[in-house]
Amino acid sequence: AKRIVIKIGTSSLILANGKINLKNIDELAFMLSSLQHEGYEIILVTSGAIGVGLNVLGLDKRPAEMAQQQALAAIGQVELMSLYKHTFARYQQKISQLLLTNDVIEFPESRKNASDALNATLSLGIIPIINENDAVSVDEMDHKTKFGDNDRLGAIVTTLSDADLLIMLSDIDGLYDKNPTIFDDASLIETVSEITDHLMKAAGGAGSRFGTGGMTSKLEAAKLIFGANKQMVLTNGARIWEIRDILEAKKKGTYFG
Ligand code: ADP
Repeated sequence: AKRIVIKIGTSSLILANGKINLKNIDELAFMLSSLQHEGYEIILVTSGAIGVGLNVLGLDKRPAEMAQQQALAAIGQVELMSLYKHTFARYQQKISQLLLTNDVIEFPESRKNASDALNATLSLGIIPIINENDAVSVDEMDHKTKFGDNDRLGAIVTTLSDADLLIMLSDIDGLYDKNPTIFDDASLIETVSEITDHLMKAAGGAGSRFGTGGMTSKLEAAKLIFGANKQMVLTNGARIWEIRDILEAKKKGTYFG
């Protein structure tokens, strides 16, 4: 079966007003369940624990103190999975949860344990939902964008599971030759076959909505993907239905490969 990893970011899960984007979560669950039922093997990498934690507690901004953020991640993760569980259940799809930390991936033995768990889950017809264990992997969280970003984790899971394709859902249609939120004349790059320094500059460090270079971390993920001879597509998480177009090789977003 074709194995696909989908990475969804906080901006596709939480609305600008802090409410949960129920429409998007429903469309995601519908799409991934349908694909699973048709024979694809699907792995979902999700961000959003802290964003959902803020929502649970009715807070409107992320607290400065790290331990508070860890608590929010621990609170939000449960709620996030509960949302997924109920939404996927509507489409007769069971899910599982896997929380990873950097060290799990670094040590060959635990890396093998993670991939064994993934394979066994997939062969049971279940969609594993993966997040970084934000409550304990503090270092990583520190470097992340405001709501956390799992771009690198998405690429690592793709290699770990030997998947065929990583579909990265962003808040933008793809990679542009310059930051389209600043430049009106930016144009979409349809295919990328190599991550050059020129491209890294186009992804502009501080251009992201959350101020930490969202595109840069996507290109870093693409480097891992290229290194493992895998493919990645970057596309807009506001149009979940386009995942089907991507799988049918109808061009959407930016192809890396
Ligand atoms: P998400 O987590 O939803 O993927 P990010 O904020 O991490 O969102 O990354 C996407 C953002 O990166 C875009 O909304 C845009 O502001 C910024 N960006 C900077 N340079 C580029 C570029 N060359 N092409 C596309 N987006 C860019």
